[in-house]
Amino acid sequence: MGNELPFSQRPVIILGAGIIGCATARQLLQNGFPVVLVAEYLPGDQNIYYASAWAGAAWHAAGGITPDQRYLQAVTHRILLKMAEDPDSGVSIVGAREYLEQQPAPDSAIWGKTVVSKFREMNPGEYPSHFNCAWSYETLVTDPTRHMPYLGRQVTSLGGRFVRKRVESLQELYELFPESRVFINASGLGSKTLTDVQDDQCFPERGQNVFLATDQCNTLYFRNGKEYTYVIPRPLSKGVVLGGVKQQDDLSPEVDMDVARDEIARAHLLAPEIVPKHPAPEAVSHIIGIRPSRRGGFRLDSERKDHRVVLSAYGFGGGGYAFSYGIADAVVKMVEKAERDNVI
Ligand SMILES: Cc1cc2nc3c(=O)[nH]c(=O)nc-3n(C[C@H](O)[C@H](O)[C@H](O)COP(=O)(O)OP(=O)(O)OC[C@H]3O[C@@H](n4cnc5c(N)ncnc54)[C@H](O)[C@@H]3O)c2cc1C
Repeated sequence: MGNELPFSQRPVIILGAGIIGCATARQLLQNGFPVVLVAEYLPGDQNIYYASAWAGAAWHAAGGITPDQRYLQAVTHRILLKMAEDPDSGVSIVGAREYLEQQPAPDSAIWGKTVVSKFREMNPGEYPSHFNCAWSYETLVTDPTRHMPYLGRQVTSLGGRFVRKRVESLQELYELFPESRVFINASGLGSKTLTDVQDDQCFPERGQNVFLATDQCNTLYFRNGKEYTYVIPRPLSKGVVLGGVKQQDDLSPEVDMDVARDEIARAHLLAPEIVPKHPAPEAVSHIIGIRPSRRGGFRLDSERKDHRVVLSAYGFGGGGYAFSYGIADAVVKMVEKAERDNVI
């Protein structure tokens, strides 16, 4: 069974150092588990395949999810709200205006009103007349350019260790850490190609956003309906993120100017008070990232493989930030259970 290390010194091994791997590492370390993260890309890196560097990233209640998944989002909200007390975290509280083209279905984003602060249905006249109804509330935005380095520092200061390395399989990890019993696969899109995972449900989904530098960066706008349009403020970086697009199986690292122009036009219609029809070119830059999407939704489960336990937490598509800390909380409970079984 490999080298035996006592329980208290046996590291939990995490493959992947995106928001999911790092949030999980932080939570495990806070619960006393030693942790090693192995990943090709680490906090602070900027590669289009490292989705966590490019997210909007707004906390928005997802529609069409299960009650358990709603709870994961709610826990994330609670933890981000606490983090927002420290500006270094890159997390900010902002106002939100959500415009709907139809009355909300019972399984729509409306459940979020039990989580966010200051939720209120807006009165006709307070929102553009071509929408059917609208909500305002307070939510949280996370600036990934600040949050990932912050999270990396937190993990290190809690005693976590990062190893920069690409692996071709989970087996390679087992051989690198023969003394470990618990392994967490938080490799995002990596799970499509790891030779002993090869999850065919995973697929890349390209995103391209416009970043507009502006001082008016305290309100989020979200169009909930026919069109996927948002204006996500980044108060700490003095700008707003305009989006979005989801381009399945497109891996282009080049800026598509047609997409950018279309996003500016849609964002202008949604929030003309913030986004001018023709922004000054020097105020505009571009964000491109590949979302780690998965048909049927994300995986969060635990499997016993011989004397090891392998947890899977990947496939978060466009919602990895909104689920992050709730996933981390759930994974800690799964690790506690696995290690309890190992010890007793
Ligand atoms: C333009 C854009 C806008 C977005 N907006 C939002 C938003 O508003 N709200 C929201 O919640 N989400 C948003 N997202 C989605 C969010 O960014 C992702 O869901 C999230 O970052 C996924 O995190 P992850 O840790 O699973 O994956 P990633 O961040 O991709 O990290 C994967 C990690 O695994 C490592 N890895 C993979 N394979 C291997 C291997 N074989 N060997 C070693 N290491 C490996 C990588 O190096 C990396 O460290 C957005 C995404 C994009 C692109």
